[in-house]
Amino acid sequence: MTSAAAGSKGLIIAIDGPSGAGKSSVTHALAERLGYVHIDTGAMFRVVALMVQRNGIDPVDEAAVAEVCQGLVIEFDPAGGSKRVFANGEDVSALIRSPEISLLTSQVAALPQVRQALLTMQRQLGRQGGVVLEGRDIGTVVFPDADLKFFLTATPEERGRRRYEELSAKGVAVDLQQTVVEVMQRDQQDMMREHAPLRRAADAVEIDSTGLAPEEVLAVMLAEARGREGQ
Ligand code: C5P
Repeated sequence: MTSAAAGSKGLIIAIDGPSGAGKSSVTHALAERLGYVHIDTGAMFRVVALMVQRNGIDPVDEAAVAEVCQGLVIEFDPAGGSKRVFANGEDVSALIRSPEISLLTSQVAALPQVRQALLTMQRQLGRQGGVVLEGRDIGTVVFPDADLKFFLTATPEERGRRRYEELSAKGVAVDLQQTVVEVMQRDQQDMMREHAPLRRAADAVEIDSTGLAPEEVLAVMLAEARGREGQ
């Protein structure tokens, strides 16, 4: 794996953190401002979960879940302007965001064979640089030599509230308390798993977004990125 710092295409930037920390919108905005490609690795795991659900596969049957990954083509909006995600050509952007898929995703993401299949895709997508990847293990496993790493956090209550507002705005009927509980349940699953658990890379810049506006988080990240680009 090579660092992109010396390449002409730009940096490899990793943004990790728990669910609801605000990674998605800030990653999107950062990529847009830098003219980079945004790679939402959580969406890739969500696509696998959707296929598992659709095919009635038992999520603990690792061999069957791994088979789903074979030949699966996951693409992001080629124009990069939206956050749309395609699975074998089908736009699954809305389908992968339901609370059921969120919990199922965390289960299938614990399977080593699934992680291995997606790891290969993620490295292919990002290795040329000029990318911002968001996830749980980008700075620790996928691109341990990334040029710049962030670890974005917020309190569980704040993250649950944000997730609740996001889902409510999309017309999904959800309960605030239940959403906070689900966010914490997912954190637990993501931090306690054996393979590539959620944790901060030693060299990541940590940002606690509790009480910060997205523009404030973006400003910190942009300043760091521009500093590295100039190096
Ligand atoms: O970021 P998002 O909430 O869409 O991620 C959904 C789930 O995918 C996470 O809860 C986690 O279990 C899994 N994931 C992962 N590694 C990544 C990105 C996401 O395990 N790099």
